[in-house]
Amino acid sequence: MRKFLIAGNWKMNGTKASTHQLASELSKLDLPANVNGAIFPAFLHIKDVQNVLVNNDSWQIGAQNCAHQADFGALTGEISANQLRDAGCSLVLVGHSERRIIFGEDDAVLAAKTLAALAANLTPVICVGETSEQRLNGNYQQIINDQLRAIFDVVGIDNFRKVVIAYEPVWAIGTGLVAAAEQAQEVHSAIRKFLETYSESLSVNMQILYGGSLNSTNANELFNMPDINGGLVGGASLSAKEFGSICAIAGEIN
Ligand code: PEP
Repeated sequence: MRKFLIAGNWKMNGTKASTHQLASELSKLDLPANVNGAIFPAFLHIKDVQNVLVNNDSWQIGAQNCAHQADFGALTGEISANQLRDAGCSLVLVGHSERRIIFGEDDAVLAAKTLAALAANLTPVICVGETSEQRLNGNYQQIINDQLRAIFDVVGIDNFRKVVIAYEPVWAIGTGLVAAAEQAQEVHSAIRKFLETYSESLSVNMQILYGGSLNSTNANELFNMPDINGGLVGGASLSAKEFGSICAIAGEIN
């Protein structure tokens, strides 16, 4: 049976001391057998968090962005997928809506970053989702399929089998406006239908996370949906108690 993946995106939060403390608290949690945990600290804190969790198999560490798709080179201020792997990451977020909207990352850049991540043996967590305007217009599924297709067309089916997808409606991120479980399920199921047009096994095996104001109050309903295989958690992952509760809720679902 597929395990839930519960991933915490810490964004640009925390100091060396506070993230060390948070990681230490997480290291003491007993994750349920059907849950894999992952955390995405800021680049600067990756090494320290990794040191805290070094003998703890429950947690994987990821980066919030593959800053540049090139391997190495004269790119002042950038960080490559190879360097993330070398620093101990096993996952990387690609196309978080904050990267798409605030930093203008387009489909071509995101496809290149996905390829670079895969070449470095990192699992890309590809984030897709619609804005509130796109939801109101009713064409949100088309938008989401287009976001996925743009990456699929570049990386190809064999590579796409190695990614994780996170459905994160932009209107739900950091707003407290969580998608209703049925709304999220509708999109997750439509993503599987879209993937089925390429391959049935790709569709069935894809791990699809929900993200957007997920917390311990709404997690149960969301995780009970048949096509939701975990969560990408922002604000609620900054408290070990709250994040631990979300993991425990996933642990109760058969
Ligand atoms: C996110 O940014 O990926 C996210 C899901 O944030 P939040 O849980 O705070 O809405």
